[in-house]
Amino acid sequence: MNPFTFYNPVKLVFGENALDKLPRELSAYGDRVLVVYGGGSIKQNGVYEAVIAKLQEANKAIFELANVEPNPRLATAKKGIALCQQENIDFILAVGGGSVIDCAKLIAAGVYYEGDAWDIVLRKVRVKEALPFGTVLTIAATGSEMNAGSVITNGETNEKRSWGSAVTFPKVSFLNPAFTTSVPRDHTVYGIVDMMSHILEQYFHNASNTLITDAMAEGVLQTIIQTAPALVDDLHNVQLRETILLAGTIGLNGFLAMGSQGDWATHDIEHAVSAVYDIPHAGGLAILQPHWMRQAVPQQPERFAGLAERVFGVTREGKSVEEVAYEGIDRLSAFWQSLGAPSKLNDYNIDDRQFDYIVAHAMAEETLGNFKLLEAEDVKQILVNAQ
Ligand code: NAP
Ligand code: FE
Repeated sequence: MNPFTFYNPVKLVFGENALDKLPRELSAYGDRVLVVYGGGSIKQNGVYEAVIAKLQEANKAIFELANVEPNPRLATAKKGIALCQQENIDFILAVGGGSVIDCAKLIAAGVYYEGDAWDIVLRKVRVKEALPFGTVLTIAATGSEMNAGSVITNGETNEKRSWGSAVTFPKVSFLNPAFTTSVPRDHTVYGIVDMMSHILEQYFHNASNTLITDAMAEGVLQTIIQTAPALVDDLHNVQLRETILLAGTIGLNGFLAMGSQGDWATHDIEHAVSAVYDIPHAGGLAILQPHWMRQAVPQQPERFAGLAERVFGVTREGKSVEEVAYEGIDRLSAFWQSLGAPSKLNDYNIDDRQFDYIVAHAMAEETLGNFKLLEAEDVKQILVNAQ
């Protein structure tokens, strides 16, 4: 293990009555609350009414920012920043998925920054202060409800970048599995792919003696693999939703990265793809991750083989370590396809025209990644293989 300091101050309120705790939890903050939400799913599934009722019970003055887009835009966050400044907002409540929460994080930090909020995303300025905010999560996927990260798209420059700071952890997150039963099949699958991808990207690192986090990561992956097929056939099953909801939170709240530094190259490449083509984040991951893994096998074939054996049930008999490793990756790809995820860039009608642009945007520095250092030509090869 590498030496590490673990810090995660998010209060997680989980279960069917989670929202009942909202008035008490928000009593520590001021009265003026900005509710941030997306394109309207919360108005169809009753979550909006439930949240507003609890805010009224808490005697809060309610303001709203609606229409945060999937792959949230800088321009929308700027609208929220202006609203917070005009209305003297005390607390932001993000009600939705990762997109809404990530947008709320930039609003919270942007309120205290006089310059262009894009500077925060580009990490040109150090964020020292943010408005307090909370989340009501409605889709299992990103882990944003229990981490400090945020991913924002600049529609003017076609760039999608992730950033975060020690002050952009939610104060409190309310997770009621029943709020996720209305997520349609495609977004349910995307969420499952995203959380598995987060776990895998943390799993591939160069630290030694990570037995505890390896076991946790493999355990969560096994549980997702056991649960997901039943869930996509029974979308309203609250118990299956509950398992997947907690899996997404554990997948990216820092637990699995204690003592190691993962490799986020697949996410970086995907962000560059979805900045240009605006495809669902995890649709891109399902396509790219297996190709990154195939390229990375020679780094540590045994690590891939162990994963293949323990998580994907690949047998070792009569096979080389490499064969076991590649068979595991094939099974991962087949599993995602069996749920309905895409497997080729072509599934989104993406051809090679923008590959050089995507490579340039994925590579912030000369090399990308940590477990395996990718050069520009390696990134391009992943895109070519993913066509
Ligand atoms: P999302 O983009 O927040 O939501 C996807 C879709 O699901 C939206 O159309 C949304 O509709 C709908 N939806 C959400 N909850 C629903 C419900 N209960 N019932 C019906 N529909 C529902 O999805 P996400 O996967 O959570 O977030 C993706 C974003 O997070 C990407 O930009 C990605 O890059 C980023 N990300 C962040 C992190 C992080 O740690 N911060 C990690 C990975 C990825 P409405 O708009 O109508 O609500
Ligand atoms: Fe992600």
